[in-house]
Amino acid sequence: MTAAPASHPVSARVALRGDLLDFTSTPEWGAAESAAVRFRPDHWLLIDHGQIMGTLPGDQSPDITWDHHDHRGRLILPGFIDSHVHSPQLDVIASYGTELLDWLNTYTFPAERRYADPEQALTGAARFLDALLAHGTTSAVVFPTVHKVSVDTLFAAARERGMRLIAGKVLMDRHAPDGLRDDVVQAERDCVDLIARWHGESRLAYAMTVRFAPTSTPAQLAMAGRLCAAYPDLYMQTHLAENRAEVQWVKELFPDARSYLDVYARAGLLNARSVFAHGIWLDAADRAALRDVGAQIAHSPSSNLFLGSGLFDWTAAEDAGVAVSMASDVGGGTSLSMLRTMAAAYTVGQAQHKPLSPWRAWYLATLGGAAALALDDFIGNFKTGKEADFAVFDFKATPELEWRIDHAKSIEEKLFALITLGDERCVSATHILGEKATP
Ligand SMILES: [Zn+2]
Repeated sequence: MTAAPASHPVSARVALRGDLLDFTSTPEWGAAESAAVRFRPDHWLLIDHGQIMGTLPGDQSPDITWDHHDHRGRLILPGFIDSHVHSPQLDVIASYGTELLDWLNTYTFPAERRYADPEQALTGAARFLDALLAHGTTSAVVFPTVHKVSVDTLFAAARERGMRLIAGKVLMDRHAPDGLRDDVVQAERDCVDLIARWHGESRLAYAMTVRFAPTSTPAQLAMAGRLCAAYPDLYMQTHLAENRAEVQWVKELFPDARSYLDVYARAGLLNARSVFAHGIWLDAADRAALRDVGAQIAHSPSSNLFLGSGLFDWTAAEDAGVAVSMASDVGGGTSLSMLRTMAAAYTVGQAQHKPLSPWRAWYLATLGGAAALALDDFIGNFKTGKEADFAVFDFKATPELEWRIDHAKSIEEKLFALITLGDERCVSATHILGEKATP
C-alpha cells in the first residue's frame, strides 16, 4: 500500500506548530506516568508528500517553502483508529428500548436494506466518512451492508479522501429479512470480485465480513474460511459473544462447537488478522485461543452499555495476553467520537473497579489499534517515515473543558479531562497524509 494514492493530491511540504503527543510503545495498565508517552510541547511537525519528516522545537520555524499551520496551545495527536463501526447505521444511532437481537430486527436491518439503492449507498458512504473525519478518526474497520454497491461506494469514497480503510461485503444467507440475504455462490463471486478491485488499492484493504454466526449457514462460514486461506493477507471481521441471548442462540444453531468462538475457529476464521467485536461472554479457553493466533477484540464500550449487552472484562483479556482495540460500534454505539468511546471504556472499567488510564485508552485508539491491525509500520504515531494522519485538539472548545484544563497540573490530567468532557467539538482539524481533510 503506497503512502500517497494518485487520486488524492498531497501538498509537497506542510508544517504544523502545536503540542505534539504520541506513543512509542504500550503504556502500563493504570499508570499515571509512562515512558511510552512522548510529549513535545510547542513543536513543529514536518510533513513531506504525506509522510512525517521529523519535528523541530517551536522557535525553529521552517522556511517559507513549507505550508505553515499555527496551532499553538492545541494538542496534535495521531488520528484515531476505530476498529469496528457500521457505515449505514448513522441512520439508526440513538434508537430506544431494545437489546441486540430485537435492535437488529427493529431498527438496523430496515436501515441496511436501503443500501441496495446505489444513490443511498453513495450519499451514505460520503456522509459516514466525512463524519469520521470530523470526529478525528482517520482509519476504520467498517461494516457496510450485504449489497455489493455499498462496498464499492464506501471504498471509492475512502480512496477519494485518501483514507486508510478496511471493509468488506457483509455475509448473511439466513435469519435476515428479504433484501438482506445473499447466497453462498453469489456471495463468493462478489467477494472475489471486490478483493480484486479493492484489496491493496490505494490505502484500502479487504476484510471477509461475516455479520455474526447466526446469520450465516455453515456452508457460508466455510466459504469465508476458504477465501481467508486463499488470500492470507485479507482481514476478517465479525461479532462475537456480545449478548447472552445471542450466545444461547449460537449454542442452539451450532451444537457441536465448544463455544461461540469455536464456531469461527472451525470455519477457518480465527487468525492474526481477525477482528472480533465485543467478546464479552468468553471463557479462559476462548481467550487462550485468541491470544495463540494473535486475533484482537474490538472493545465497543458505548454500544455494550447502550444495548445492555454486558461489561467487557478488559483485565481478563489483558492477563490472557489478548490484543484489544477501541471501537465506536455505531449505531449500537452512541457516538463516532473516540473521546466518548474512551470515556465509556473508563466507565465500564470503573463498574468493575478496574479504571482504565488515559494513556492506555489513547494508545489503543492510535498506535495500539494500528499494531493490532499490523498497520503500525504505516500509521499510529509520529515516527519519521510514517503516513501523516493526525488530528488537532482544542482544550478551549467548551467553557467547562477550558475551565477544567486551567485547573489541571499535568498533561495526563488534561488528557483525562479531554476524554471525559470532550467530543468532536474539540477536534479543530483532521489531516490525511498531511492535507487538511475537514472544512
Ligand atoms: Zn457491530
